[in-house]
Amino acid sequence: MKLHIQNNFTTELPADPSEINIPRQVERACFSYVTPKQPSKPTFIHASEEVAYLIGLSSKDIVSEEFLNVFSGKTVYPETKPYALPYAGHQFGNWAGQLGDGRAINLTEVVHNNQSYTLQLKGAGPTPYSRTADGFAVLRSSIREHLCAEAMHYLGVPTTRSLSLMLSGDEVLRDILYNGNPAYEKGAIVCRVAPSFIRFGSFELFYSRNDRVNLKLLTDFTIKHHFPDIKSESVTKYLDFFQEVSRTTLDMIVHWQRVGFVHGVMNTDNMSIHGVTIDYGPYGWLEDYNPNWTPNTTDRENKRYRFGNQPEIALWNLYKLANALYLLINDAKPLEEILNAFSVNYQKEYLNMMRNKLGLKVTKEEDAILIESLTELLQLIETDMTIFFRNLSNIQKTDTVEVAFDVIKEAFYNEKDLNASILDNWHVWLEHYKNRIIQESLTDAERKEQMNAVNPKYVLRNYIAQLCIDDADKGDYSLLNELFELLKKPYDEQPNSQKWFAKRPDWARDKVGCSMLSCSS
Ligand code: AMP
Ligand code: MG
Repeated sequence: MKLHIQNNFTTELPADPSEINIPRQVERACFSYVTPKQPSKPTFIHASEEVAYLIGLSSKDIVSEEFLNVFSGKTVYPETKPYALPYAGHQFGNWAGQLGDGRAINLTEVVHNNQSYTLQLKGAGPTPYSRTADGFAVLRSSIREHLCAEAMHYLGVPTTRSLSLMLSGDEVLRDILYNGNPAYEKGAIVCRVAPSFIRFGSFELFYSRNDRVNLKLLTDFTIKHHFPDIKSESVTKYLDFFQEVSRTTLDMIVHWQRVGFVHGVMNTDNMSIHGVTIDYGPYGWLEDYNPNWTPNTTDRENKRYRFGNQPEIALWNLYKLANALYLLINDAKPLEEILNAFSVNYQKEYLNMMRNKLGLKVTKEEDAILIESLTELLQLIETDMTIFFRNLSNIQKTDTVEVAFDVIKEAFYNEKDLNASILDNWHVWLEHYKNRIIQESLTDAERKEQMNAVNPKYVLRNYIAQLCIDDADKGDYSLLNELFELLKKPYDEQPNSQKWFAKRPDWARDKVGCSMLSCSS
């Protein structure tokens, strides 16, 4: 197994002089060297071939002993020195102080095909940033991360990737619902891959300590290596950087709203500087379309991170990043302009995205109303988001509203909830929609093809992930393998997998892991 190693981060930025691996405050340093804990009996569960190719590995490498050892943390790859990053953050709206890679250890940077990547183990043991926790991860949450990160990639949503999933052979104690019922679970390790794991919170840390020197070092480093298109200097350079982070963050959120993904913990420490989805914890997928839904039980009261609030929160988080960068810019006005533009641009991009979901190519003023009335309608009775949009593409210009209604009604969880007034509302909307698609030049078949390219048929529904976890806990990984392959082609019909194009079954409605998740992972 041959990796092309690069050490830009650790050679160019200041290291923590201490290598003592106990929880502590780390000042004036961008990283701490730390060695993964050796797992007692590492076992290979799954790897993503495509991610392996991305970093220059082959199918043969994946099944090698060295792959298992390196990506479970058993051995350190030659000439590398693993490290963890400090960062800070706002959690659920409150300043949380120093956080950092508490159970993530960066193995190394690698270069392949002129692209550089950081490889990071999640769940490989404690670091100076573990605070009161153990540094490990359980199989349940590692499966969720491995499957979902890759599924998101194939959906076209910017995300960190997941190379591998290994069992550690060790047991990890977790109180899933934080209700005083801890139990042992199987420990696991995922290897994540991204350009870097620098977060909004990385900048907030230095800002909070008024450490302008390290803030500047980190920002300059980030721009130099990860934003090579920024050619400007001094203050403009930092503004361009912030502008670019705002843009990619916005793009990511539009994608989340398109596919019905709810991150669940949009704390500033869980926001990647690259505008990619990071930290798959208590995330979930909308089943019935409900903007107020969050899968995260920790957030049940305020629902700060509910589906419909994700754009607002992204902006809130960008404010925090702007605050931190202000220390280098010293001028609030241009930062405010970028922040103000976010909402306007979001609205525009959101409408475009929804137009695409509806198969509308021409831009018309009235579309905003068509879209708004649809999202209201989708909430009147439980309506499955994925099934609704997928089936909508089967409507034909010549259909009567009754026929059109038949096409979409599979999406309703309980048809008995439909009363005359709701039915009437649907007929009105479908009439409007039909008139609208008649004004387009696309044929029915062309529109269907375009809609099916943005409305996935298969997403990692919460209950499907849970079924896979239940099997894997018993040592059966066949469903994991099946789902991994299925989710590589989420827009394809895949008739043999039709059973996964189904509404959430009733047993999963209020089940832990399916609709209720916590940060305990
Ligand atoms: P999260 O909100 O899950 O992304 O985590 C917030 C902070 O807690 C981060 O600094 C994590 O590294 C840390 N953390 C979460 N779980 C653990 C764990 N099991 N051991 C150590 N640190 C953890
Ligand atoms: Mg996190």
